[in-house]
Amino acid sequence: MNENYFAELYAVNVNEHTEKKNGLTYLSWAWAWAEIKKRHPDAIYTIYETPEGCNYFTDGRTCWVKTGVTLNGIEHIEMLPVMDLRNKSIAFENVTSMDVNKAIQRSLTKACARHGLGLYIYAGEDLPDVPPDPVFCEECKKQIEGRPDWPPEKIAEYSRRRFKRTLCPDCQKAAMKKEPDGGELRFGTNDAD
Ligand SMILES: [Zn+2]
Repeated sequence: MNENYFAELYAVNVNEHTEKKNGLTYLSWAWAWAEIKKRHPDAIYTIYETPEGCNYFTDGRTCWVKTGVTLNGIEHIEMLPVMDLRNKSIAFENVTSMDVNKAIQRSLTKACARHGLGLYIYAGEDLPDVPPDPVFCEECKKQIEGRPDWPPEKIAEYSRRRFKRTLCPDCQKAAMKKEPDGGELRFGTNDAD
């Protein structure tokens, strides 16, 4: 039995067998399982069922599946919500057997990844969505509110370039007025004087 079977599976290049959907990379379940079985013929997988024999679980609002892959006597279990193409949970009443089937395959592939195979493609997936730090105006001390086309960090970046300080749009306007030329004609000469 290979002591470091994880390192061996982790080193397998899976890139040729992935598919990108909505920014996430998926590994083919059939291929992943074949790779596992080639190296570990005794590997088994389990699709867990409810006591009633249903292959998915539900709390009445959303659904999830539970699968496990056992290798070298170690079982890694993966629970996965039944999700749509945008990776949002599908409401219980809208879940189809096709959705459940897809979730089971993804769940099994992820259980294989816990043993090392293709784990690196999931590396970024569990990172939480971190909201950007709030940005404050150095003049009025108010938090700089962005617009969809001009987020706070871009406003701050522009301000530091233009005024050497972080200013909100209102204070930027005020600062411009205080400049010798009132912020006008910055790129030309003022012949009027
Ligand atoms: Zn301000």
